Amino acid sequence: MTISLKGKRALVTGSTSGIGLGIARALAGAGADIMLNGFGDSAEIEKIRAGIAGEFGVKTAYDPADMTKPAEIEGLVASCIAQLGGVDIVVNNAGIQHTAPVDAFPVERWDAIISINLSSSFHSIRAALPAMRQAGWGRIINIASAHGLVASANKSAYVAAKHGLVGLTKSVALETANDGITCNAICPGWVLTPLVQKQIDARAAAQGISVKEAELDLLGEKQPAKRFTTPAQLGELALFLCSDAASTMTGSAYSMDGGWTAQ
Ligand code: NAD
Repeated sequence: MTISLKGKRALVTGSTSGIGLGIARALAGAGADIMLNGFGDSAEIEKIRAGIAGEFGVKTAYDPADMTKPAEIEGLVASCIAQLGGVDIVVNNAGIQHTAPVDAFPVERWDAIISINLSSSFHSIRAALPAMRQAGWGRIINIASAHGLVASANKSAYVAAKHGLVGLTKSVALETANDGITCNAICPGWVLTPLVQKQIDARAAAQGISVKEAELDLLGEKQPAKRFTTPAQLGELALFLCSDAASTMTGSAYSMDGGWTAQ
């Protein structure tokens, strides 16, 4: 099946790295123009932006909006519309992690995780919906997690935010069910990105084991399939959710988690 997104404009938050970048590349590969967002070295980001434009022959732009700041998120959606001519697809992907027992969880980290991993999606969705409704077509994809469906110890803020994001997904799907718009969540298991590399390195240091051993240890603890999902594989799932074949798939959470949540 060939999916064409030619003429569609996709905004992907947190797309300077990891899963967001994989999804941006998959959508660009199908012809969508891409608004990139996220932090990082500006020369590196410009290389990513120009690289996607050159490789796939699509328009690309970049906006450094901080997902903790509602006004900047509104500005990001406005800048997508101004620079690319519209906003047809929103992928809410930016996210951070912090692990600590709930009674020792730094309040500032709790607030940051809730705002970046949950509230930012509320802000981008409310800003983008009017344009999607006017166009009579839209795709909203929220990158939740296996932790949007089940919990792990020491991840209270992350688990709360991701469960919240799955809930937000369902409400938005109901409110847009007859507007040509779908809203779904993707729930990955382990993906080897900088966010997870930090957890592997911490595990290796804490247990005095090699990074390779820490990787297997991390996978073995939760995920029956002891290998990582790739950002490119998640990009293909996001692309499918943008296709016409997926026009009645809405309000659901799709796992790509190596069997994690089947247990
Ligand atoms: P990553 O660290 O590689 O990428 C995170 C992206 O978010 C980066 O582009 C970063 O610059 C951006 N970002 C962080 N804070 C931001 C802010 N305040 N404003 C704007 N951008 C910001 O991480 P990743 O693993 O690719 O994670 C992407 C998403 O996937 C997250 O929501 C994460 O929770 C989710 N996820 C990851 C995994 C995994 O195993 N890696 C599993 C399930 C879900």
